[in-house]
Amino acid sequence: MKLKYPRILVKLSGEALLSEAPHAIDPDTVASIADEFQQIHENGVEIALVIGGGNIFRGWDFYARGMDRVAADQMGMLATIINGIALQEALEKMNIVTRLMTAISMQELAEPYIRRRAIRHLEKRRIIICAGGTGSPYFTTDTAAALRAIEIKAKVIIKATKVDGVYDMDPVLNPEANKYDHMTYMDVLKQGLKIMDMTAISLCKENNLPIIVFNIKQKGNLLKILRGENIGTIVS
Ligand code: UDP
Repeated sequence: MKLKYPRILVKLSGEALLSEAPHAIDPDTVASIADEFQQIHENGVEIALVIGGGNIFRGWDFYARGMDRVAADQMGMLATIINGIALQEALEKMNIVTRLMTAISMQELAEPYIRRRAIRHLEKRRIIICAGGTGSPYFTTDTAAALRAIEIKAKVIIKATKVDGVYDMDPVLNPEANKYDHMTYMDVLKQGLKIMDMTAISLCKENNLPIIVFNIKQKGNLLKILRGENIGTIVS
């Protein structure tokens, strides 16, 4: 298969691992996401994942309730590592070789993130899961995704969400809402659209890295994107 993007970085929010049940991580949901990655991995694409932690802990919420910001963010970064282990487990069950790489050293359970090593893993067709965000407080995993994508020279950053793309109105409340097929970075920044935070969008803009926002809950979408079909919204 001719791949439009030979190397990709996929940003998964922590919420992607949730189901309706009152648990932080739902094993069936994780398995179904892993299945999507297996499909595209079989087609030869090199895959890096950046995982969020919002299903377990968001630093901002606890900061707003009086906790020290740095401590709260450190807890948030640890949450992403818990998700990373869950994702790694699910992928390895499908016989995909993976490496969990963390921005905060935790050598008993994961490798430290080292750029050259990450690229080497990708070349050997291992899926890398980057957890721990940027390793610094005051950032988000969206920014970590933009940063890692640029570092490893990914051709695109794919932001997995629960909606089909970016709309002019909330599609849940307004059935007439229209989906944008294409937007510029400036459109996103000017309209304050919450696709990714401003730091992440700015980094992508400066480095000409396209972002595709798509619905990961719809089976087969990732594969379609790689084949070059117009799925979701592309920001470039
Ligand atoms: N975080 C951080 N630095 C980073 C990335 C994340 O301090 O570089 C913390 C921050 O507290 C954040 C939490 O980790 O709220 C979870 O990450 P995020 O909210 O980006 O997860 P997502 O919304 O993608 O699930």
